[in-house]
Amino acid sequence: MPGFPALFLDRDGNLIEDHHHTCQPEQIQPIAGVREALIACLGAGYHLFILTNQSGIGRGIFTWEHYHACNARMLELLALPSPGIREIKAAPERPDQPSEYRKPSPKFIQEMIERHGLDPARSWMIGDRVTDWDAGLNAGIRSCAVRSGAPFTPELEVNARARGVCFHQDFPSFVRLELGL
Ligand SMILES: [Mg+2]
Repeated sequence: MPGFPALFLDRDGNLIEDHHHTCQPEQIQPIAGVREALIACLGAGYHLFILTNQSGIGRGIFTWEHYHACNARMLELLALPSPGIREIKAAPERPDQPSEYRKPSPKFIQEMIERHGLDPARSWMIGDRVTDWDAGLNAGIRSCAVRSGAPFTPELEVNARARGVCFHQDFPSFVRLELGL
């Protein structure tokens, strides 16, 4: 049964500038062109989701309150038309803690495919880190790496390309060149 196409979006370094454990609303700065790219995706019928690892909570660096305030500021600045971002999921655990949802876990993506009737063959996970790409691949959807966040090495790129991950400069480039929007 064909379903809706979807984009699973990493937050920091993909939608907004990554300030390393971003936790203050005044730090929130959408990456250039992201708003327009998201609006184009909504217009093309993509369901939008955000999946973010927030180990700063598990490490005690900031609180859920800080996290929610940052999301509120991001959504305010993005000002997307309805339905906007359908669901946002954060995994607060440290990398060394057990976690159901922390990327590279595919659990959130799998749940959304089921709940929203999504088409895995037309869905993508986009982010700046290996854990993002692996979450998408583990869920059986395609993955795209963007260079707008964490630095990455040629070795990392070779490894990712070997596994079918595509690379783009940033999310707006992905939307333009890969989705044709
Ligand atoms: Mg990121």
